[in-house]
Amino acid sequence: LEWCVSVPKVELHAHLNGSVRNSTLFELARVLGDKGVIVFSDVENVIMKDDRTLHEVFKLFDLIHILTTDHSTVTRITKEVIEDFAAENVVYLELRTTPKRNDSIGMSKRSYMDAVMEGLRAVSSVDVDYSPPGLKTNRFNGSTRKKMYVRFLLSIDRRESTEAAMETVKLALEMRDLGVVGIDLSGNPIVGNWSTFLPALKFAKEQGLYITLHCGEVPNQEEIKAMIDFLPNRIGHACCFDEENWRKLKSAKIPVEICLTSNIRTETISSIDIHHFVDLYKAKHPLVLCTDDSGVFSTSLSREYNLASSSFGLGKTEMFQLAEIAINFIFADDGVKADLRATFEEAVKKLN
Ligand code: 5GP
Repeated sequence: LEWCVSVPKVELHAHLNGSVRNSTLFELARVLGDKGVIVFSDVENVIMKDDRTLHEVFKLFDLIHILTTDHSTVTRITKEVIEDFAAENVVYLELRTTPKRNDSIGMSKRSYMDAVMEGLRAVSSVDVDYSPPGLKTNRFNGSTRKKMYVRFLLSIDRRESTEAAMETVKLALEMRDLGVVGIDLSGNPIVGNWSTFLPALKFAKEQGLYITLHCGEVPNQEEIKAMIDFLPNRIGHACCFDEENWRKLKSAKIPVEICLTSNIRTETISSIDIHHFVDLYKAKHPLVLCTDDSGVFSTSLSREYNLASSSFGLGKTEMFQLAEIAINFIFADDGVKADLRATFEEAVKKLN
């Protein structure tokens, strides 16, 4: 595991509210418990439970959102999550989150995202670059401290309407010079219809935002086919594909964000031995290992690398290559890619 920690890594599929430390969730639950807003022991039972089906995971997210969704807490968890990834030697992070509106506390999707940005600016353990070149000065200027690139993806929740999805896309466009690079479609896969989100996703694509979709978490082949036909820049999971969609995916060469622990914990894949990582890896299909929800699934990116190495018999050379090749699939410009390649070149000298 130590070696996996020391390798520089690229994280492309991490949900903010799924990556919150358990200790922070407990602290927040205790405060709300004391105020009588929630019953602490109920929360404790849910947070402590390790095995969660996909269905239960979404109930847990509703609970986490009760604990986290006020401006100052959103700022706090953003700072902590980014610092936790930095401590894991993640050199490029695409963090995704669903902008939330909550009229009762005066929260708009924009003010939610402003709170996220405040958390980013509060990061102190590393130097963070979050803006595309030409728009804001790069904060690395001459610094010799550890550095990390952070970009944001705004998630559309499958519970949302076409209008709400469109609002998220417009917000992403508004926040482009603050490091928002794309749109994600996530949320409970048995809720909502592809046709509801398509207008907003099409608009996002036309405007040049990058798109990644949660695809094939349940065996809805029609939806999977429509999603591949849309040609997103990446997809997440790809667990329940039939033969035909599998062929389509491979010929379209759409990179896949692979979340091993998440797939096993949610029982989307019954056992690691039959995980589709192996088939995609052998076919040299573009793929990247990711955490999904490091808090909810008690994992880390290093653990995901370690798990892939031990489960699929990959040595250090293969694992390093796997980490490095992820640079090709990031939603950032060639300058960032070149800088990351240089970081990996430096690292390989030190690790050998
Ligand atoms: P947030 O967007 O609130 O920061 O992060 C939590 C949200 O991410 C959840 O409410 C859910 O919409 C989405 N999410 C997290 N993990 C998963 C997953 O494994 N599958 C899907 N489809 N959505 C997820």
